[in-house]
Amino acid sequence: MKELNIAKKPFIISAAVFVLALAFAFTLGFVIRGCDVTPPKTYTTEDFTYMSDISSVKDILNTTNEKYLLLVNKKNPLGETYAPESVIDVDKAYTLYEKGVQLESATAQAAIAMINEMRAQGIDNVYITSGYRDYAYQKKLFDNYMYAEWQKDKTLTEAEREEKVRQYSAYPGESEHQSGLCVDFFVAPGMSELVNYGSETEKTNDIGFAETEAFEWLKENAHKFGFILRYPDGKEGETGYSYESWHYRFVGIDAATKIHESGKTLEGWLE
Ligand SMILES: [Zn+2]
Repeated sequence: MKELNIAKKPFIISAAVFVLALAFAFTLGFVIRGCDVTPPKTYTTEDFTYMSDISSVKDILNTTNEKYLLLVNKKNPLGETYAPESVIDVDKAYTLYEKGVQLESATAQAAIAMINEMRAQGIDNVYITSGYRDYAYQKKLFDNYMYAEWQKDKTLTEAEREEKVRQYSAYPGESEHQSGLCVDFFVAPGMSELVNYGSETEKTNDIGFAETEAFEWLKENAHKFGFILRYPDGKEGETGYSYESWHYRFVGIDAATKIHESGKTLEGWLE
């Protein structure tokens, strides 16, 4: 028995040395990797080419300010008193039928730069139809829908009507439009005005905008101006809203490009 123990010893020693060497190599590798972390790439206007002159809005498009990653949805409402820091009137050359639209200032400048690029590329029928909407406006909108549902079916309870309306309209305080960071687009002329495309008053309005050349362009290029398609088709479970081909949210080029490449929603990206 004694002889057997002696014979086993070199084996035990070499096994221990092997395990120790392995642990050392693993630790060393970890330390080296830890020291050699290359910073993740930040996307900027330098990564893309533009036909229009974007020199005056480069800093805005390249923003990585966290305030542009604000998450607004049914679980993250803004509340009654929230308003963006700075809201500006959008130049009426870019709004539908020259109507008054307001947006958070960086969002406004990015949206105008994007429309200018589309015009430079031959798509000259895109306009902003909706931007910043305050709490009171959203409440009025919601109340109107509640009234319309009551007219349609008077047997429904208030809770039942509210459930219906919430599928296509944000509850006051829960609309991303209250952040001033999102834009609804419309193409005119060329689309029937019988359906109120792009203003979120009809559940069917995605049928129109999703079939336009403008939408195809936005799908491929909106991230180059810091915008994302906020409510993609089939992502209702994540965003809480049905598909809205016309609604774009400003987050800055870096986040927009990463979200675009990942195929995630803003909710999925931020979690
Ligand atoms: Zn919208």
